[in-house]
Amino acid sequence: MENNLSLIILRFSNAKIFGVFLSIAMIFILVVSNVSAADFEVQKITSDIYVVIRHEPPSLWFNPNTTFIIGKKDVIVIDSNINSNYTREVLAELKKLTDKPVRYVINTHWHEDHIIGNHVYKDAFPNVEFIGHRSTLKDLPEIGGANRKGSIENGAGFVKALKKAIETNKDFEGQPMTEEEKLGYASDIKLVQSYLDEAPNFQIILPTILVDNKLELNDGKRKIEILFLGRAHTGGDLVVRLPKENIVISGDMTVYPIPLVGSTSYPLEYGATLENLRKLKAKTIIPSHGNVMHDDSYIRLMIRLLNSIKTQCEASFQKGETLEQMRKSVNLDEFKKIFAGDSQHKRFIFENYVFLPATAAAFKQLTEIKNKNSNK
Ligand SMILES: [Zn+2]
Repeated sequence: MENNLSLIILRFSNAKIFGVFLSIAMIFILVVSNVSAADFEVQKITSDIYVVIRHEPPSLWFNPNTTFIIGKKDVIVIDSNINSNYTREVLAELKKLTDKPVRYVINTHWHEDHIIGNHVYKDAFPNVEFIGHRSTLKDLPEIGGANRKGSIENGAGFVKALKKAIETNKDFEGQPMTEEEKLGYASDIKLVQSYLDEAPNFQIILPTILVDNKLELNDGKRKIEILFLGRAHTGGDLVVRLPKENIVISGDMTVYPIPLVGSTSYPLEYGATLENLRKLKAKTIIPSHGNVMHDDSYIRLMIRLLNSIKTQCEASFQKGETLEQMRKSVNLDEFKKIFAGDSQHKRFIFENYVFLPATAAAFKQLTEIKNKNSNK
């Protein structure tokens, strides 16, 4: 049941309260004009590095920022979008900046919101190469495939539940809706609809260039390091580092304002991987969701959160507790307050993207370690 839910909402989370909403199918018509320029802004980082910052409010579904690195002869793009129309809009913005072709698309990880628009680049630039972590070859078809099936099957019911919440002015916890929740749910409806509209024609593109630990490129203007710093948000998060400009593009490893730990994460390693990210000492950090950061304070806060999750989950597991018991033992209220404040909506996101999936993923990791040790 809970597993079923996780497929519905976001493909990364574990929210148990949604099951009841998901039975009735609806037909959606994507109004392309919904995808308007106000959904994003293009920020200039240097004379030839730009980031498309998404304006969708923090909520339950996601659409990532895109980074353009313009080289001497060609362009590197980091991450595509959750739907091809969004990606076409992003590509149109790139074309306003340069007529150089896209040579590489780097997918920071295999989550669908980062890869569905890949084929837009392939269609426009037949020689483009797609760079991803080696684990993508397995995880995208297997875990991603299962998640995709769930999202497609349950997406219509999820949209219906979101619409009903807005109509009845009751959020998923039965509370009167705040303005922030209404905006968030409305954004979710748009994103899920755009996803479902394209679903029959999804063209999933796997990486053509694989990274294990490090790959270095040179675009004639700068060195580009593509790094795997350890497992964190997924088993194959890539970070892109530009040493000359001291910029790091950190993918979903750092999501603002609420971290996206998610059910396909590795909470026992996440904190250490973030520590590796921090050690890069970047002056500019570009997350996949949220604004550009100029210091490491958010990374340090996330490290504290992830280390606390690890320590508390390990202590619970050592006592022989079940996942249900673990969720009673582990207390993240301090962090919920820091990240979400008094916002009803952000607290809900924290519960469903941090607390529930992080405990489940930590429990899974701890069980695997225990089984491995007992088989020795
Ligand atoms: Zn992700």
